[in-house]
Amino acid sequence: MTKIPADPSFTVSHLPPEISSKLQREVQGEVLVDGASRGRYATDASIYQQFPIAVLIPKSSEDIEIAIQVAKEAGIPILPRGGGTSQCGQTTGTALVIDNSKYIRNILQSDLSDPDHATVEVEPGIVLDHLNAQLKSHGLWYPVDVSTAAQATIGGMAGNNSCGSRSIAYGNMVHNVLGIDAWLADGQVASFGPYANAGGQAKRLGDYVKGLVDVLKPEIEARWPKVMRRVAGYNLDVFHPQSELPYTLDHSVNLAHLLVGSEGTLAYFKSLKLKLARLPKHKVLGVVNFASFYQAMDSAQHIVKLGPTAVELVDRTMIDLSRNNPAFRKTIETALVDANAKTVDAILLVEFSGDEHAPLLQKLEDLDALMSDLGLPGSVVKMPDAVMQKNLWEVRKAGLNIMMSLKGDGKPVSFIEDCAVPLEHLAQYTQALTEVFSKHGTRGTWYAHASVGTLHVRPILDMRRDGALKMRAIAEEAAELVRKYKGAFSGEHGDGLCRGEWISWQFGPKITEALGAIKAQFDPSNLLNPGKIVNPPKMDDAAYFRYPPSYRVIQVTPKLDWSTWNVQNNPVTEAVTAAGTGGDPAQGLAKAIEMCNNNGHCRKFDADVMCPSYRITRNEKDLTRGRANTLRLAISGQITNTGDTPPAHLPLATQAVKEVMDLCVSCKGCKRECPTGVDMAKMKIEYLAQYKERFGHTLRDRLVAHLPNYAPIIARIPGLPMLLNLRNHIPLLAKIQEWVTGISAKRSLPVWKSKHFWNQTPLPFMTPKELAKHDKRVVLFADTFNAYFENENLQAALALLQKSGYAIHVAQPSKEQSEQQPFCCGRTYLASGMVGEAKTRLSALVDHLAPYAKEGIAIVGLEPSCLFTLRDEALSLGLGESAQVVSKHAQLLEEFLASEHKAHRFVPRFKESAQPVLVHGHCHQKAFGAVSPALELLKLIPYANPQLIESSCCGMAGSFGYEVEHIKASKQMAELSLLPTIRKQANAMVVADGTSCRHQIADGASREAVHIAKVLNSHLDT
Ligand SMILES: Cc1cc2nc3c(=O)[nH]c(=O)nc-3n(C[C@H](O)[C@H](O)[C@H](O)COP(=O)(O)OP(=O)(O)OC[C@H]3O[C@@H](n4cnc5c(N)ncnc54)[C@H](O)[C@@H]3O)c2cc1C
Ligand code: SF4
Ligand code: SF4
Repeated sequence: MTKIPADPSFTVSHLPPEISSKLQREVQGEVLVDGASRGRYATDASIYQQFPIAVLIPKSSEDIEIAIQVAKEAGIPILPRGGGTSQCGQTTGTALVIDNSKYIRNILQSDLSDPDHATVEVEPGIVLDHLNAQLKSHGLWYPVDVSTAAQATIGGMAGNNSCGSRSIAYGNMVHNVLGIDAWLADGQVASFGPYANAGGQAKRLGDYVKGLVDVLKPEIEARWPKVMRRVAGYNLDVFHPQSELPYTLDHSVNLAHLLVGSEGTLAYFKSLKLKLARLPKHKVLGVVNFASFYQAMDSAQHIVKLGPTAVELVDRTMIDLSRNNPAFRKTIETALVDANAKTVDAILLVEFSGDEHAPLLQKLEDLDALMSDLGLPGSVVKMPDAVMQKNLWEVRKAGLNIMMSLKGDGKPVSFIEDCAVPLEHLAQYTQALTEVFSKHGTRGTWYAHASVGTLHVRPILDMRRDGALKMRAIAEEAAELVRKYKGAFSGEHGDGLCRGEWISWQFGPKITEALGAIKAQFDPSNLLNPGKIVNPPKMDDAAYFRYPPSYRVIQVTPKLDWSTWNVQNNPVTEAVTAAGTGGDPAQGLAKAIEMCNNNGHCRKFDADVMCPSYRITRNEKDLTRGRANTLRLAISGQITNTGDTPPAHLPLATQAVKEVMDLCVSCKGCKRECPTGVDMAKMKIEYLAQYKERFGHTLRDRLVAHLPNYAPIIARIPGLPMLLNLRNHIPLLAKIQEWVTGISAKRSLPVWKSKHFWNQTPLPFMTPKELAKHDKRVVLFADTFNAYFENENLQAALALLQKSGYAIHVAQPSKEQSEQQPFCCGRTYLASGMVGEAKTRLSALVDHLAPYAKEGIAIVGLEPSCLFTLRDEALSLGLGESAQVVSKHAQLLEEFLASEHKAHRFVPRFKESAQPVLVHGHCHQKAFGAVSPALELLKLIPYANPQLIESSCCGMAGSFGYEVEHIKASKQMAELSLLPTIRKQANAMVVADGTSCRHQIADGASREAVHIAKVLNSHLDT
């Protein structure tokens, strides 16, 4: 048998300059060679890290073809990449990484005429959800529904032979790929499809593999796992079927199936022909609650006999974590027989689907009856409602990510997490493995595909300390169990660096040798993703770890308080130590950054917020993950040779970090939607503080930051507001301002007024004790923007509260302190990295508000970004207990009124609305789950029929959208869905709480958006 060179021939770690220039000259796409870009492609959702030689973002197939040629001539390995969501290190390597996900994502052709034989041909970089969105109107879908459907590309899914939750009904990738056109290592394209029609290189290679398989038949028969969930090695069983589900319906051989699961080591997929399925018209879900995990596992084998399309597990740890996650709490509670009960040890999500609803409802009854027969009457929550089902699937899909939100260095580690065993052994297997974990001083959280015996489990290990040792010991014992129960060691997530060495364990030396020979036939110079599947390293070789024992964080005193991240956890109980005790040299900042596990969930385009900058650029650097990786590399000193060395105490103050933070609009989308809670908006403040300390503040920074300081002065000087407003009417003035300050001349600026909130009517002032005497009472916090530019909003809020019988205190300095300026939340300072000034301003406000909050009085504000500064950032500025109590009582006006309404204390009578209402939620409002109160209140207005605009950030984001270098990006963000939706509904009233959102809507759609305070007040029937 031919062998590939044991060691790849390349030795370079950087792309040699002449190759780099050649590539840049010949391709249209981007060639990234700097350390930070390479660093962002050095990881995937695994524990591994290897810096690529360079990264190519090809614009077209031609670019890929050129790159393969150039790399071949230079002897440089190639690594194709999709979403980079692999869990085993498949996409990490010392290679030229080629990212298909930005441009190589077209649907090439489709044949949808006969739904039962519909097919589609796609480029490899198309994301599964995006493909399915286009197929939906045809009643079709591609049914390999991986949990990462919103990120996973078809190329990556084929590369890994991915498997979805419904594989019991539809099979894995290998069952659903009909053909692959691929570049071979020599740069030639070959068509892999039915063997019977094969020709050229594909036939030659197919014949070669067949020759090997014919000889190895007895070995394959003896060694090959019979379970459907087996993805290790190459699919030699195309020629001698072993899977319980045949790869083709007519049992013919399809050579494309040889490439599925090859992890980029045999060929580079150019296009893939896929078999589509009918979208089931109806689905129902039965959620079975179990008091014992063992019982859940034991029941799976009986449940599958009812013919479900999925049986998925969520265990107690995940139920508890979901309960503690604001985004998932309500949903998980819908799945429990008793929402408050703590006794549920596991739930199984049992889905039935089909074209008629009635038989599915009967299936739920059958499930109920079955569970009664199994001794668990009343254990099924029946969920015929599609929205509830969708929400619960989201929680299940986010399962792993929720689990990863554990703080501290011990993290759930993926290495044995997709072993598959026959269903009849599932209960014994999971119990035995739990005992193995316990023996090694750790434990695992179980979830996922009970229907096919693939349960995901990740023991908690600390890879910086003894993790590698435990990893090896646990893997060996798990392997014995897999062997005992005749399962597969690699059942879903592929081999990569983590399971490569287990291929020979699974298949024995002869088959392993054959895999090497196949690799040598396809790729004689070992240039296609070397070190995966054939000649892999040891799984516990620390040289490949993202956090090897040698990993070090630079000592730094952060500007914000990150101590809640500076903790360690107990792997058995998962209890975390007290804040500040985690031993982080960066006092918790590094550990907060390291919360990103690279799962790629932020690469999404759905209705939520995260991550607007990625949505418009599709660049890894403009993604929460890219930012977190860059920060991690910076704070651990891994971005080297850039010629930009920051002072030791300011490791984030570099151009590399600036580049990734540039388009972060601090929307806090990630804070809520990133399953591990990566809070990039807060990290941006930290970076800005460091960066500005190193390079100083610009005039624009100062103009923005000090607005609360000079607004009162401008308003006080007669004629000055009018003079300043000329800038909005005289283009030359706007242009001059743009030259001098960098504020775009294309934007109108907020209009200055001499009559504002503070100098109009006398404002109510009450001490905490006086106010506390009233039954209905509230403190109104007037932010700078509404006070000086849109005082009618505050006046409306005041009138609304007064008419509704509330005693009010407007937060303002007392007469004795009258020399003080109006209070300010410090937002503008934080946005400019002036943490010290922000603290001073916030501290005065918090001192004023705390006595009211201590009396239990709500503190109500109108501007989401200002109000939520009290709830959020104020807690990170070392303002002590006062900040805590204020944070607990700070609410948006609508949050306050909606809760008062529920308590029957705010019972307004509203006049009919003349128009339907469209609501745009401010990002921070969404991040704190404060949009539904607005909708609840607006629903009280007859005929308002409020509809939430499904939008991400409006793109204005404070001063971002005004900045000359950002105006284009800002408008692109608004055009993603906000402005088109508004334009489509010309007769609707648009409600938006954010000052800058209202500006964006006025600028981009020429429509006036109004604050909810005005809408509620103007509809009040007095
Ligand atoms: C939270 C989480 C949940 C997951 N859930 C599932 C699940 O339910 N089921 C499942 O199967 N997996 C799951 N995975 C693993 C992973 O998401 C899937 O394997 C996914 O299909 C990978 O897609 P990708 O685009 O990210 O591929 P990548 O990770 O980018 O690449 C995967 C492999 O394909 C190769 N490849 C990519 N493009 C090409 C090409 N054009 N030609 C040749 N080879 C190529 C790569 O080299 C690599 O070896 C999960 C991962 C995470 C983090
Ligand atoms: S930032 Fe959050 S969502 Fe994005 S990859 Fe990291 S952990 Fe996942
Ligand atoms: S704050 Fe917003 S823009 Fe910034 S990384 Fe998070 S989601 Fe993306």
